[in-house]
Amino acid sequence: MVAQTFLMVVVWWKTGHPLYLVIALLMVLVGTLRLRNFRKYNSLPSPTTWEEAHQRENDYILYGTAHGLALGAFCLAGIYFAHDTFAEIAAVCVTLATATSIAGRNYGSPRMVLILIIALTWPISLGFLLRGDFYHVFLGLLSAPFLYAIRKFADTVREVLFTAISEEKKANHLAQRFNRALNTMSHGLVMLGPDGRVAVANAEAAQLMSVRSPEAMLGRSIHGLLMRGVAGGLLALKDCRYIETQLTRALREGKDRKVLVSLSNGQYLEFSAREGSQELGVITFEDVTARVAAEEKILFMARYDSLTALPNRAYFHEVVDEALRTGDRERLCALAVLDLDDFKSVNDTLGHPVGDGLIYAVAERLAVFASDTVKVSRFGGDEFMIYFDKIDGEEHLRAMLDGIFVALQGEVDVAGHSLRIQASGGAVLAQVRDSEVDAMIVRADLALYKAKELGKNNWYLFEAVMDAAFRSRQVMKADLRSAIEASALRVVYQPIVSMNTMRIVSCEALCRWDHPELGPVSPAIFIPLAEEMGIVSEISTFVLHAACAECAKWPDPICVSVNLSAKDFRSREVIEKVKAALAAAELAPNRLEIEVTETALLDDKSQTRAYVEELKSLGVRIALDDFGTGYSSLSYLHKLPLDKVKIDRSFLADVAQSPRSLDLLKGIVDLSKSLGLSVTVEGVETFEQLKILAITVQPDLVQGFLFGSALSSSGIETMSNTTWPFAQDISLARLAARR
Ligand code: C2E
Ligand code: CA
Ligand code: CA
Repeated sequence: MVAQTFLMVVVWWKTGHPLYLVIALLMVLVGTLRLRNFRKYNSLPSPTTWEEAHQRENDYILYGTAHGLALGAFCLAGIYFAHDTFAEIAAVCVTLATATSIAGRNYGSPRMVLILIIALTWPISLGFLLRGDFYHVFLGLLSAPFLYAIRKFADTVREVLFTAISEEKKANHLAQRFNRALNTMSHGLVMLGPDGRVAVANAEAAQLMSVRSPEAMLGRSIHGLLMRGVAGGLLALKDCRYIETQLTRALREGKDRKVLVSLSNGQYLEFSAREGSQELGVITFEDVTARVAAEEKILFMARYDSLTALPNRAYFHEVVDEALRTGDRERLCALAVLDLDDFKSVNDTLGHPVGDGLIYAVAERLAVFASDTVKVSRFGGDEFMIYFDKIDGEEHLRAMLDGIFVALQGEVDVAGHSLRIQASGGAVLAQVRDSEVDAMIVRADLALYKAKELGKNNWYLFEAVMDAAFRSRQVMKADLRSAIEASALRVVYQPIVSMNTMRIVSCEALCRWDHPELGPVSPAIFIPLAEEMGIVSEISTFVLHAACAECAKWPDPICVSVNLSAKDFRSREVIEKVKAALAAAELAPNRLEIEVTETALLDDKSQTRAYVEELKSLGVRIALDDFGTGYSSLSYLHKLPLDKVKIDRSFLADVAQSPRSLDLLKGIVDLSKSLGLSVTVEGVETFEQLKILAITVQPDLVQGFLFGSALSSSGIETMSNTTWPFAQDISLARLAARR
């Protein structure tokens, strides 16, 4: 404005025209007012309301227009009213110089731009037009495209700047949201620039890394950050190297990769590297201490037995498998299985909590032996497995196992019951090279069977012959299945004789299997096999039907006894089976007797008892077989739904020699009789025995080889009327005894 005013004064000086002086004075006035306006607003803060902004723009336009008009007047004067070459040049220069700044300075207000252009260019154009000649008129008309162009520039500048401002605002907004998101996320997050240094970090990251603030992390390298952890004693140096290589590799390969790090304060951090865009690597990490603890707990539950906290079957298998696959292939290893003797009776008589207590006590004693090379596991039930990784030889193993057996034995107090721990064991010793877990377990089990067979409370080492026995058992099982399918079994009948009359009153049906190669196989062998295979009930059905059908052919008073397995009483079907056999043979139920063993009755007391009672209600009689061989207790005899007790032949074995045995036998027989049960003594082989029975023990019935072994059905028919010749001798002996 100073320059413009000065120019006007110079033009007035040159031309002497007073109009220029007037305009120059006008400029001074306008300039002063405008400056004051500038000053006023410069000291104010930015407007906050639309109205205020509008007010300021209006003021701005008012003084701007006044300035523009003053310049316009100067131009009009120069071109039209006071001709002079210098004045003309000055007018054109002022217009051009000012016009160029319009776009650059006034773009903010489109109104101001338009008004200024009009105020500046119209007077000069008017001046040219009024000059009237072609050339000046042409010049005057050119102001139109000039005006258009300047306006366009201003618009463009304004738009560019507005866009820039609004984009910046948007970017700020976005950045704020991004920040919010970053700083409220539960993960620590770090973004790395192409130089491998932190470009972005969130609050959680700073906290987890124990850095003051996210800003303090910027510009640092991953290595630098991890080394802080090392310096603070949270991270081991080798962990630091490991994490660094894992993360850098993951970032380079663009693969998602997780690295779990345990800190010395018990915390677990999980780092994940993620593929970043625009060369940015993203690393997130979080505190997974709770998750790791939960996982560990689940793993523990999956691997360890809940009662004893010893490794369970699956985990033991895994551990031994791993041990067998590593280390010296030539070394010896061993596997032992331990099984508590008569554990079932503890469970049955004292209840499961006491049984659990006993298992726990055993586990405690065994756990003492666990070490790097000895692994102890509870395999389930009352079965424990021990794996020995390095054994010097058989003597070494024997010493160790004997030691374990000694430590195991003894009394233990469980819930007020003083229980004796007694176990049987089986062990196998082998070279690691040709060992395999499952095979070792099978062999240890075979040795365990042997130990149980040899009288329990001891352990036995596996020998190759056992394997052969085991294999032949497997072959026999297959043969038995075929025999049952081909109905190749038969039934024979052993007489049961009345003590008083010495005549057959009943017969026991005994099953026979004639093996094509092995010859006759004892039911004492194949019945347990069939039980193991779960097909014993098929044998029972066959024997029941055959026995009922044969018995129906015998003279009326003679009855038949059929042995049923404990497994038969697992299902109610047993009742239908008996009914069907009786119906098919049209046999009166009171001519059939069912023999059950104590184990069957104890198996699942309430259930089996209910079935036995139902059988009894059909009119069928029930005999307790092999009395005295199991956990026999006279105290429960009267509680069971029995008609008869069959006393095992072992009670008879030495009655002739031992008065004590005789007393015992007599006691049992007397007690049974006093309970209203009829008594059969099994296994009578000699006349001597029979005589003692007749005179002292006086059971109701006798059975044994003295009266012949089992016969075919027709044999029984023939003998049905026989009175054994001992009858007379016995009467004589009785008389002699009375005298
Ligand atoms: P058990 O029920 O005690 O049957 C009596 C066994 O003793 C029979 O052996 C019989 O031959 C034998 N025995 C008879 N008198 C004497 C004797 O004076 N001295 C000696 N030392 N033994 C004698 P077997 O036939 O070998 O049967 C053995 C066991 O097999 C039976 O013992 C019974 O528990 C079972 N069994 C037999 N047949 C069947 C059946 O059809 N079903 C079921 N579930 N088990 C059966
Ligand atoms: Ca029997
Ligand atoms: Ca028996």
